[in-house]
Amino acid sequence: MKNASRCLVATFLALTTALAVVVVPRSPATAHDDPAGIDYVLFWCKMPSSTVRWSDETGGGGYGQQAIEAAAAWDNYTPVTMQLVGTTPNLIVDQAYWGNTGWAGQTQAPASNPSCAGGLAVWERLPLTSMLNTYYTDAYPADKRQSVFGHEIGHALGINHQSHPGNTCGGLALMYYTVAFRYDTCSQFLPQSDDVAAINFIY
Ligand SMILES: [Zn+2]
Repeated sequence: MKNASRCLVATFLALTTALAVVVVPRSPATAHDDPAGIDYVLFWCKMPSSTVRWSDETGGGGYGQQAIEAAAAWDNYTPVTMQLVGTTPNLIVDQAYWGNTGWAGQTQAPASNPSCAGGLAVWERLPLTSMLNTYYTDAYPADKRQSVFGHEIGHALGINHQSHPGNTCGGLALMYYTVAFRYDTCSQFLPQSDDVAAINFIY
C-alpha cells in the first residue's frame, strides 16, 4: 500500500551537483504545543521579500491547478503575496516521480545557503523547490494534493513542522507533518491560525 505519511522537510540539495546535504534547522522557535494557543516552529530562514516570486513547473495536468490554489491560499490568508512569474523565481513548485521514498512532498534549497541560525536570516541562494512525489500523489484527490503543495510552500516561506498533541483536528496547522492525519483524518488543506501567526512573525 502506498502511504507516504511524512513530509521530508528541507533536504537541501545542491541542484547543480545533485549533492544532497541535510541541514537540520537550529534555534527553532519555542514550541508550546498548545492546541488552544498560537504555536509555530520556524526555520529562521525566510524569503527576501513578502512578495514571493514563484513559478509553476508542474506542467499543468492534475497538478497545476492545485499548485496555484495552494499558493493563492497563502496569498489570501497571510500578508505574503504569491506572485506567479515566468522568470527568476524565488520558489519553483513542481512534481516528479521519485518512487517509493516515504515522502509525498519535500522542499529543497541549494546547499550553499548559510545555516538558518542566529536570528531570522534571508535565503542567500535561490530558488527553493517545493515538489510532490507523484508515486504517491497521483492517487490523491485534488484537495489532498493542495494540502501537500500548501504545506511545502509553507516550508519555503520559512515554517518548520508543528506538532499537535491530542490528535484533534481543531486548529490543526497546515504545517502539521503528516498528510495522513492532516488531510485523511482532518481534511486540512488551507493555512490555519498557527500558520498565519508564523507568517506574521516572519514577514
Ligand atoms: Zn513538511
